[in-house]
Amino acid sequence: MSQKSPKLRAVLDGIPAYVPGRPAAAGGPVAYKLSSNENPYPPLPGVMESAIAAAGTFNRYPDLACTALMNELAERFGVPVSHLATGTGSVGVAQSLLQITSGPGDEVIYAWRSFEAYPIITRISGATPVQVPLDSGDVHDLDAMAAAITERTRMIFVCNPNNPTGTVVRRAELERFLDRVPSDVLVVLDEAYREFNRDTDVPDGIELYRDRPNVAVLRTFSKAYGLAGLRVGFAVAHEPVAAALRKTAVPFGVSQLGQDAAVASLRAEDELWGRVGSLVTERNRVYEGLVGQGWTVPETQANFVWLRLGGRTVDFAAACEKAGVVVRPFAGEGVRVTIGETEGNDLFLQAAAAFRKEL
Ligand code: PMP
Repeated sequence: MSQKSPKLRAVLDGIPAYVPGRPAAAGGPVAYKLSSNENPYPPLPGVMESAIAAAGTFNRYPDLACTALMNELAERFGVPVSHLATGTGSVGVAQSLLQITSGPGDEVIYAWRSFEAYPIITRISGATPVQVPLDSGDVHDLDAMAAAITERTRMIFVCNPNNPTGTVVRRAELERFLDRVPSDVLVVLDEAYREFNRDTDVPDGIELYRDRPNVAVLRTFSKAYGLAGLRVGFAVAHEPVAAALRKTAVPFGVSQLGQDAAVASLRAEDELWGRVGSLVTERNRVYEGLVGQGWTVPETQANFVWLRLGGRTVDFAAACEKAGVVVRPFAGEGVRVTIGETEGNDLFLQAAAAFRKEL
């Protein structure tokens, strides 16, 4: 008798797997991983100590409610604890946002290209992705996104700054957009790279959410705070959204180590902003360097730069790898390069200059 496979949900067919940024190959010529928008710095002061202390209780489940972290976040961002929900990275919280809003027959709008998890997690929810192309400057086309709203729209992602282009949407245009979105459609402001923004016209989502019950803000400890490996993210949203997120979260999804390290990171603010400042200085140096070499680079407010290389994307990534840096190619579109250690950034700039000379 032929064996049948277990029946899986049809929506899973054809969903691409998440492609992580490749690591630097051990023993190979590659020394710098600039492919995952990670922070090149070691944990902030106090974080290792709290993590080591937490390691002594790994036989216990973590605090389900993330009490200490929630209290710290509430104080730091001036929001009630009831407006917070944590998760396994902000991508875990994004998945919960889809779970609470969207299913088969519903539509989820986001810009494209944007964070590559959006189409994956949207399709896993069973909802239909509605991808609205970035404008010619690689910026969210908010008018086109508003025009794409239908009766079926349940959720809209706005990634600000946008991954992988680093581009931003500014206050006036974002407020105009939010005013056009029906109040029963949830708008998720994904601010994973917020701390690297230096454009004062870019609004803080946590200010925008306050008088808009259909706005949720996603933040993460993975980027500026340098805790990518610990998987801690959170949302700020009004009830009932935040309450629904807490209800659907994977129980005990954030480890005690992650919770304690996140609290310690929030308490190391001076050092945090010093490091973010250094990365922003490096970002601006890399951006200027590329522009000086003749590249057209969209202005970036994140910890990465975007080069729209079209058909030369894969060759460029290979040239960088030969020069000792792994970057993130999106074949046929462009390359995203994370701002890393100064030496890594220098190697990248040299590789870009050499590649340009051969064009
Ligand atoms: N949002 C955006 C825009 C991102 O680029 C990323 C990470 N690549 C995430 C969310 C998820 O990060 P994490 O799950 O580590 O918080």
